[in-house]
This record gives sequence, C-alpha cells and structure tokens, in this order.
Amino acid sequence: MTNITDAATVPLLDLQSEYTPLRDEILAAIARVCDSQQFILGAEVEQLEADLARRIGVRHAIGVSSGTDALLVSMMALGIGAGDEVITPTFSFVATAGSVARLGATPVFVDVDPVTMMIDPEAVRRALTPRTRAIVPVHLFGLCADMDSLAKVAQARDVPIVEDAAQALGATDRDRQAGTLGRLGCFSFFPTKNLGAFGDAGLVTTNDDALGEKVRLLRNHGASPKYHHPMLGGNFRLDALQAAVLRVKLPHLNAWNDRRRQNAAIYTELFTAAGLTVHVTLPRELPQRHHIYHQYVVRVPNRDRVRAHLAARGVGTEVYYPVPFHRQPCFAAVVQDSEAFPHADAAAREVLALPIFPGLTRDQQQHVVSCVAEAVR
Ligand SMILES: *Cc1c(COP(=O)(O)O)cnc(C)c1O
Repeated sequence: MTNITDAATVPLLDLQSEYTPLRDEILAAIARVCDSQQFILGAEVEQLEADLARRIGVRHAIGVSSGTDALLVSMMALGIGAGDEVITPTFSFVATAGSVARLGATPVFVDVDPVTMMIDPEAVRRALTPRTRAIVPVHLFGLCADMDSLAKVAQARDVPIVEDAAQALGATDRDRQAGTLGRLGCFSFFPTKNLGAFGDAGLVTTNDDALGEKVRLLRNHGASPKYHHPMLGGNFRLDALQAAVLRVKLPHLNAWNDRRRQNAAIYTELFTAAGLTVHVTLPRELPQRHHIYHQYVVRVPNRDRVRAHLAARGVGTEVYYPVPFHRQPCFAAVVQDSEAFPHADAAAREVLALPIFPGLTRDQQQHVVSCVAEAVR
C-alpha cells in the first residue's frame, strides 16, 4: 500500500495512485453487484456496453472475458478455421497470433515498419494469398497502425481487418476511434491497460449488425434461445463485477490518457535537454494520429545493460516484446525463414518501456532520464 512519490524509486506502473481516489466509488459499485447477486452478464454489463459504444462511436460493443477472447471470438464470428490464413505482425503479444492458431488456421507473419514497429502494409500485400481470410494489425503501445494503407491492400481482395486494439482505447486516426477502423475491434481491460478491470475483461466492437449479433451469441455458447445452439461458441462472457468496476473508471479514461500524453511530452523535453536523443530513439508521433501512450517505448543499443542499470537505480522497465512470433517455439511449425523479419528482430533487441502511468511526477521522470543518461553515456 505504499504510495510512491519518492523520486528515488519509480515503478513501471503504479495502480494505487489510480485506485485510491476512486476507492469508495468502486467499492460501492462492487457492493451493488454483490447485493444484486447477478454476476454473469445482466444490467451492469449492458450499461457498460452502452457506455463504451457511445465512447467509441460504434454500433455494437460486446463485453467479453478478455482481450484474448475478443480476438478469438472475432475470428470465430468470421468463420476462420482450418485451411485459412490470417496475416499478423510478427512483433506483438502472443494472443494476436495465438488466437488464429487455436482455431486451426495458419497465422502468417509479416515484418514491421522499422520506425513505427507496426505491421508493414507492403509486407501484408506480399503475404496475401487466395487463402487469406483476415488481417490483424496491432495498434502497438497506443498508436493506430497505418489503417489507410492496410484498407487499400485489404480492399483489393475483400479481406476483413480485425483490429487488435488491446492497447488503444481512446487512440484515434483523424476523427475515427480505434475499434471502428476495421470490420471488428478487439480491446483488453487487463488491469495494466489504460482502462483496467480488477481481473480479466475485454470488448469486441463492430458496425456490422450481423457480426455483432454473431459475437453476442458466440460469447455465450452460441445459444439462441437458451440450450438451443445454432452455432458452437464458448464461455467468453464478461463478469458483472468487472463491468461495475469499469463503469466507475471509464469517465476518467480521457484524463488519464491526457496525463500519459503530457508525461510523454515531458520525456521528450527532458531527453532532448539532456542531449540524449543521439543515444535514445524516442517514440514518434504521427500526423493525425492521437497516441494514448499505453506504453512509452524507447529504443537503445545495449538495451539489456541499460535496463539492468535502471533496475539497480530503482527504475522499473519492461521489454515489449523480447521474442517476435517467428522465433517463438509455439509457432515454429508455421515459420519458413526465421531470418526474414529483420525490423522485428531489431525492435525486439532494442525496445525498452519506461514508466508513463498517469500519476508519474516530473521529478520521477527526471530521475528516469538521469539514470538513462548514466547508462548510455
Ligand atoms: C493485452 C493484449 C492482448 C490480450 O489481452 P488480455 O486481456 O490480456 O487477454 C492482446 N493483444 C495485445 C496487443 C495486448 O497488449
């Protein structure tokens, strides 16, 4: 329960500073659910779905059990299975491609853009085959992927795009929200995401009425009505307790995302003033794309040494992600040439996530930058 304000230690993430001011309200919401004894789906989930649909500006927002299950159920709704190919970036969290493989389909990995570290639309074009049934861009670290270019590539073959927007609730491309840029959008409310539940939770978004209805049925065993199963789904339901917690937190999301953006601007100022930008590549903002900084990821040579130095000085960091899909043992069967993804390999070697959470103080950021300076000079 320590509230860290001391600049000498800086955690990667401090969830206490987000929880403490909302504690009474959250506990009251949890008590409301307990008093109702209604734990699965129901009014809390419906209210959250309505709130999120409005927030994102999408026709259907369907609460599910996790971001991973959002991806899985979205691909089930598209009818993806054995013999199908789904294109994903090779640099992401395992669930992006894992959900494809779990359905018996083949994940087809493509390299990333060397600057954004996100899926390279030209590489997607080269990877398309008559078997391609979906493309899954990842809005990595809270910035939208290059959806215009991807849409052009996808349209030529009429392939649906499923957004892995797990890190991107509130990110926009011009005036369009992440989760409305493809056929389906998949969000995660894992506790460390910008909007975090008190356990696992996720969301699927779509403007397609038929797909929305299908996801709704699939998340609840494909039942319609109860105990009648026109299709086979699973248990991908969102808990009422999680929905109640998320409803308390959702109104604060914009302010939290703004704080993350302010912290990013402060890092830019501090790293620049310290003359460190020759040693450290800072995250790039892109015109018209609103970055919500789920993570603040810099690139440094000798990353592991820098990370160890920061750890010794009390600064929490993380590596998202140290091993791209094409080097994961679980995907070995689908990889033909593990040397074919040089930009993802370079990213995996150099990325380092620094603390960026909303309650971070300027003094803490100054400490982080000083420690980086000691390590790279
Ligand atoms: C967090 C995350 C997921 C998975 O979400 P869970 O809710 O943890 O299942 C999927 N993809 C990306 C890119 C993520 O960051």
